[in-house]
Amino acid sequence: MAGKQAAVFSPRLTRRGFAHLLGAGAGAALLAPQVAARGWEERLALRATGRLVPAKLLPKDPTGLILLNSNENPYGPSPAALEAMVEAHSVAMRYPNYWADQLQEKLAEFHEVEPEMVVVTCGSQEVLKLAAQAFLGPGKRLVVAEPTFEAIVYYGKQTGAEVVKVPVTADYRHDLEVTAQAAQERPGLVYLCNPNNPTGRAEPHVAVEKFLARIPGESVVLADEAYLHYVDAPDYQSLLGAVKAGKNVVVTRTFSKIYGMAGLRLGYGLARKDLMERMRPHQVIESWNVMACAAALASLDDEEWVNLNQERNRAARDYLVKAMAERGREVIPSETNFVCVSVPVPVPAAIEEFREEGISIGREFARLPQHIRVSIGTPEEMEEFVKVYDKLFGVGRRLGPEQARTRPQGRRPRAGEPPLWARS
Ligand code: PMP
Repeated sequence: MAGKQAAVFSPRLTRRGFAHLLGAGAGAALLAPQVAARGWEERLALRATGRLVPAKLLPKDPTGLILLNSNENPYGPSPAALEAMVEAHSVAMRYPNYWADQLQEKLAEFHEVEPEMVVVTCGSQEVLKLAAQAFLGPGKRLVVAEPTFEAIVYYGKQTGAEVVKVPVTADYRHDLEVTAQAAQERPGLVYLCNPNNPTGRAEPHVAVEKFLARIPGESVVLADEAYLHYVDAPDYQSLLGAVKAGKNVVVTRTFSKIYGMAGLRLGYGLARKDLMERMRPHQVIESWNVMACAAALASLDDEEWVNLNQERNRAARDYLVKAMAERGREVIPSETNFVCVSVPVPVPAAIEEFREEGISIGREFARLPQHIRVSIGTPEEMEEFVKVYDKLFGVGRRLGPEQARTRPQGRRPRAGEPPLWARS
């Protein structure tokens, strides 16, 4: 890497030192003047009121819906990450290798593993793709829960692997027993989304360890820990320990959720060096971007933002769960930033009705014919959700099962694009 760049953007530099090296105004000048002139706190407050950059509403949905459909973090990146990205504008013309290297090393330090055990990716979905390409193929089997986050199914099918779906149990947990049985034949990849999307449940560590012990040696367990930061259950643990213990386990993590960076596309994988060596060749060369890396480096130092987002999520989730329980709904206990709530009408009809009232909720999921998935937003968004719920399903409700309609939600994927089921 060029020595000059290395000197400029060492994460060991203080932010003030970094700004000084870049030239104080370099990044700020790229923002609109009225934005650049404001302090960060003021800018964040403005953003929260929607008067400045209603970023959440811009790219995905120009209709101004409240977006409770993709398990995003409504508060966005931490102030430190925003600041780092402004500063990083001045190096946007450089290829990202240096920053990706810095991030790889910082993540290794953060998790106390060797840098070779870390892969920095374009969203954690890229780790899923790398694992599918490295460990699956014709004659191999991908075992997943149903329902779960299905990007891995999409990538797995592309390799020609057989896909086996194991229904969740009656209490919406992974059926670890049946999953382990299914993994015995044509060993390839076992996907364990823990906590699971969309059920929101987190499996206890003791049960997961027992399950791991039953997985054949030739199989790799892909542990998707996208929602780990939201877990409160004391019996939950990351599978990073299994990675460090040399097991056939790949752990995926993301900056899209607690760190509020879904639009920046940054994730990473953690695994034994030899597993990494099999996955890394499938990466797009230099698929990283400088902004995302700068934001991630700053985010990792901002524990306060993580704690704050955990508290905000917990409070808004508790409010929603209580409100729905009071209305007699079944709420699947969630350890994440989304909750599945039963509705008194077919799910497609509920999705459509909420959308017409200005709220976008999650898609329909297999084995959840009565539940909608609602992402946790701000307190105001949760209040609005409950208000709309009451309007639709409260006393004297105007919607009944007979009125079910099944219009598609949002734009249909274009030819060749991943289908909706693989994306949320
Ligand atoms: N894993 C799970 C379980 C998810 O729910 C999601 C996205 N909602 C992802 C991975 C993808 O995350 P990323 O933005 O890091 O690609």
